[in-house]
Amino acid sequence: MNTTPNSHAVVIGAGIGGLLAARVLSEGFGRVTVVERDGLPEIPVTRRCAPQARHAHALTARGRVAMEELFPGFTASLLELGAPTGDGQSEFRWVFDGHRWAKSKSGVHLLLASRPLIEWHLRNLVRALPNVKFIDHCAATGIITDPRRHAVTGLALNGKSHQTEDATIDADLIVDASGRSSSGQGWLEPLGYPRPEEEKLSIHLAYATRHYRREPTHIDGDLGIGIGATPTLPRGGLALAQENGTWIITLAGYGDDEPPLDAAGFAAFAASLHTPDLGDLISTAEPIDDGVRYRVPSTVRRHFNPTQLPTGYIPFGDTICSFNPIYGQGMSVAALEALTLRQCLLPDRNRVTDRFLRATRPTLDHAWDMTCNSDLRMPFIEGKRTARARAANAYVARIHRAAMTDPRVGTAFLRVISLLDTPTSLMTPAILSRVLWANRKSDTGPNKPMPRPTDVRLD
Ligand SMILES: Cc1cc2nc3c(=O)[nH]c(=O)nc-3n(C[C@H](O)[C@H](O)[C@H](O)COP(=O)(O)OP(=O)(O)OC[C@H]3O[C@@H](n4cnc5c(N)ncnc54)[C@H](O)[C@@H]3O)c2cc1C
Repeated sequence: MNTTPNSHAVVIGAGIGGLLAARVLSEGFGRVTVVERDGLPEIPVTRRCAPQARHAHALTARGRVAMEELFPGFTASLLELGAPTGDGQSEFRWVFDGHRWAKSKSGVHLLLASRPLIEWHLRNLVRALPNVKFIDHCAATGIITDPRRHAVTGLALNGKSHQTEDATIDADLIVDASGRSSSGQGWLEPLGYPRPEEEKLSIHLAYATRHYRREPTHIDGDLGIGIGATPTLPRGGLALAQENGTWIITLAGYGDDEPPLDAAGFAAFAASLHTPDLGDLISTAEPIDDGVRYRVPSTVRRHFNPTQLPTGYIPFGDTICSFNPIYGQGMSVAALEALTLRQCLLPDRNRVTDRFLRATRPTLDHAWDMTCNSDLRMPFIEGKRTARARAANAYVARIHRAAMTDPRVGTAFLRVISLLDTPTSLMTPAILSRVLWANRKSDTGPNKPMPRPTDVRLD
């Protein structure tokens, strides 16, 4: 990438998305400034403006590889910092659709660092880049354009809190990584740019999270437990081994079914899931904190039209798409977006927003369709259930049923949710025949006819 020495890129937001974007921009711009309204702590702790970091954050295998591509040595240094690692199927207990998956070596590697540790580590790696500067305690308050309002020229800042004298900074490019509640569209509207069309699914999900001390004997040394919600029991939970010898355990329920925060209520909710694994773990583990809650009213995807954005404004990460967190896609999608942005900046900066939004669409489609289809299995979630989505869900139900006895089917699905393979990989003759065979043999689980393969399109 050619670096233009005097050019200046500004990133709004120092969350995972903003940090990854800053890394890529540092390769093509003389200077990069990351503007963050929050304070940026020197130690790995949850920030006030990123309260979601208190809850379980799973990094998919593809997300980890993407972060490694951006920061060579990323994985090794997190391992040195104590992040547990292992195989995503032989060392993890999965229960999907009420079916316990057979265990087997999958080759899908887990890296189980907490979100505060991942963010702090990325922040330190970005801080070490010589041409990147952070301004924290400083909120962006508006986008400045040329007089014809065609291209961005700068960013307005909250003068009270930022560390420079100026109330604005110049910018040749602005990456808006300010997250799900980004004000970017509100700033652009008065400049004549309409808000993007928003696609939403009201999921009304409630999270509750507690930490426990981890003992080597817990769950036979496995690294975690994931129990998915189903239409008949729409609550689930996730336990992940973390650095510092701890478990993070997050429970989730839809609608009014909020997991309690107190120790006894939390344990009872965990014990009520499809299998007793989480309840058993909690009953033998020492609690080390009180519970915290997070509510996710909806998932949101903003369909930005590049012709309706000023040149040099790029929405990024959760600003574009905020998924149902139980599927653990957001950080990984942001990492893949960063790799895409790097490619789009390679030739030149001409029409970079257009090229970025086009190139990133398949990644977003994959994660969005997969997670929305899964949510739409819940009868109480309103939304259009297309024939394609229904067929996909019927097939996925059979995949989970097959994965009880055939670990290779589980591995194929794990690779898809880990963003390593596309959903079409589940439709190869080898996997289809395994799913068919296992469902014929199995005498538990849904007893409906297999959808015809021609009805099923997962891409
Ligand atoms: C409860 C929960 C659990 C999750 N679990 C997972 C998981 O298991 N796996 C996974 O991959 N993802 C998970 N996610 C999603 C993940 O956190 C995000 O998708 C990912 O971190 C990318 O977010 P982001 O950086 O785009 O936005 P954010 O993390 O929201 O960061 C935006 C940043 O911008 C700053 N900001 C906002 N406005 C301004 C402004 N005007 N000026 C300056 N700064 C501003 C904010 O303070 C913040 O620091 C979860 C999310 C939630 C809510």
